[in-house]
Amino acid sequence: MIIDFHTHIFGPDVRDRRDDYARRDPAFAEMYSDPKAKIATADDLLASMDAAGVDVCVALGFAWRDDDDVSRHNDYLLEAAARSKGRIVPFTTVNMASAAAESEIARCVAAGARGLGELRPDSQGWDLNGGEGERLAAGAREHGLILLVHVTEEGGREYPGKRGCSLAAFREFAHRHKDLVIVGAHLGGDVYRDGPSPVYVDTAAQPFLYRDKEAKDALAAVPADRLLFGSDYPLISQARALDELRAAVTSDERVSRAVQGNAEALLGPVSAESAS
Ligand SMILES: [Zn+2]
Repeated sequence: MIIDFHTHIFGPDVRDRRDDYARRDPAFAEMYSDPKAKIATADDLLASMDAAGVDVCVALGFAWRDDDDVSRHNDYLLEAAARSKGRIVPFTTVNMASAAAESEIARCVAAGARGLGELRPDSQGWDLNGGEGERLAAGAREHGLILLVHVTEEGGREYPGKRGCSLAAFREFAHRHKDLVIVGAHLGGDVYRDGPSPVYVDTAAQPFLYRDKEAKDALAAVPADRLLFGSDYPLISQARALDELRAAVTSDERVSRAVQGNAEALLGPVSAESAS
């Protein structure tokens, strides 16, 4: 069983009209206005999973500013998950700066959402450690949701969409809410470099973000029970991301926990009925 904890899918409408979406959402424009930036649908993801031997994926929403964009993307994630027979686990999106945030969270939970992400408070203009962050934590607590946050590593390479949540803000939020399950994307911005942390981290886009030596150090600092395999598909192919993980992590036990055990501990038993 291989579980990819960090993938992105959009409805065909976003893929076909990316210029319209880019005009009204600055974070989307930064990351996706370049026609070469890949946008994948649920069908694309399922084909990739078949090709790479991935059984189950967490599919994440985008941190839109507009309420309608948020709910439309969430509808797509939830429908794709429902159709996938357990292969796609939906983490829906939310804008905590919106008055509709709590009702949108409740609506998504009722339709099967297991988490919220990829959260980018800076892109949407709200404070993870302010009132909005408190409301987010309360919602996660009430509904048993996992929070997956984009975390910006200090230094490292520049890339579109790098800013979204600083390491300092992420660390403070995680320490204030130790009872919640919080996942820091991109090795949590190397959060384990400075010592223990209550968070999980995923390996999303790890080959791109860290230089080789830093990546090795950042990976080695993560406890074996806190590391989650995440590709950041379609930015990186799932097959390549798996190869990179196996090359960077030499312990079979660590790899096995990253691709299966830790994700199952968070999601509960996952079943991929149609997995080949
Ligand atoms: Zn990210």
